Amino acid sequence: MCCNPTIDFVVLERNSTDAIDVGASLVLAPPSLRVLHQLGVLNGLQGLASEVILRHTIKQSGHRFTACNVFDGCKRKAKSKFLQGKNVIDIRSTDNEVKMYVVEFQRPIEPGAAFETQSKDKSIMFATGKERGWIFLYEKLPQPTTARTTYGEKDVEAMAGRFADYPLTDSLKVKDVLAERMTTGVSDLQEGICNNWGWGRIALVGDSIHKFCPNAGLGYCYQSGIQDVVSLVNNLRQLLACSSNPSVSELEAMYKAYQAQQWGDLAFDASLSAHTARIRLQTFVNYNIINMVQTPVWKQRLAFDFLDAEEPFMGRVAWLHPLKNRCLK
Ligand SMILES: Cc1cc2nc3c(=O)[nH]c(=O)nc-3n(C[C@H](O)[C@H](O)[C@H](O)COP(=O)(O)OP(=O)(O)OC[C@H]3O[C@@H](n4cnc5c(N)ncnc54)[C@H](O)[C@@H]3O)c2cc1C
Repeated sequence: MCCNPTIDFVVLERNSTDAIDVGASLVLAPPSLRVLHQLGVLNGLQGLASEVILRHTIKQSGHRFTACNVFDGCKRKAKSKFLQGKNVIDIRSTDNEVKMYVVEFQRPIEPGAAFETQSKDKSIMFATGKERGWIFLYEKLPQPTTARTTYGEKDVEAMAGRFADYPLTDSLKVKDVLAERMTTGVSDLQEGICNNWGWGRIALVGDSIHKFCPNAGLGYCYQSGIQDVVSLVNNLRQLLACSSNPSVSELEAMYKAYQAQQWGDLAFDASLSAHTARIRLQTFVNYNIINMVQTPVWKQRLAFDFLDAEEPFMGRVAWLHPLKNRCLK
């Protein structure tokens, strides 16, 4: 019963390609990867991505704390539901602390490296994938703002100059890799969660309801969006099992259940992200402590309750929502 009815969908995307080469890297954690596995895209991703093997934290002085096209895998049937080049201009139904500079370059060290540099009011993340590397330069703004700021080439150069002599690794400085850069960009980082997650026949997921700083480097932003989708779809399927043509009031009650299910985890992610962003701008905390607090929280992250898959990640802490589902047994 929980496998039916199926939910039809169409995706309207203003860009005309599956994955345009803008933005920066994307760190994905196990709770997101296992949901992507349920959708059959994990193998394809693993061919493109690198596992983070090393995570080092250093101070500006050089002191070390520790050494410690996704759609290709989608079912053909689903692909026809993604309509690209469709700019949504209207929908009808009867933030702000840090700015960030991202540099992308040919990677100078082995894939899977993750380095963090901490200093007062500035921090750096440096990561390498299979073919590229990324440096994220974070700088505290003089004051929080809700203004929309656009940065140009002059701002890029000025920020690069302020970080030029900061260490990335024991032997590399920011200026060493900037010369090799392929792309760069600067933007403000936004934070906030909105209160209304659905109205009429419209429900929101992802960055449209919550924005976090990505500098925890743990994939919290994107992961929260995936969790929204999983929760919303699971709740919608439950509703459709009882009412094949739900009324707006039934849907709105379902949005409340969806929001309530997500709120606790989201508040945790938002808080951890906000704290990480701020403490990173200090020089005394070894951030590997974060790794200790996330496991008990991650184990309770959702998976689709109607898709059957072998569990790709098993550890000492068991997942609360197994990928083997009742309906397919
Ligand atoms: C520099 C940077 C680094 C980041 N790194 C990470 C990371 O490592 N890990 C992580 O988890 N998160 C990271 N994030 C955050 C992450 O990118 C977002 O949380 C995530 O992309 C949000 O996904 P989304 O689908 O909700 O929104 P989006 O990715 O913004 O997708 C919205 C889509 O809607 C389309 N669209 C917008 N308007 C219209 C319209 N009018 N009509 C049609 N289509 C439209 C857009 O083209 C876009 O494709 C990072 C963010 C930044 C800025």
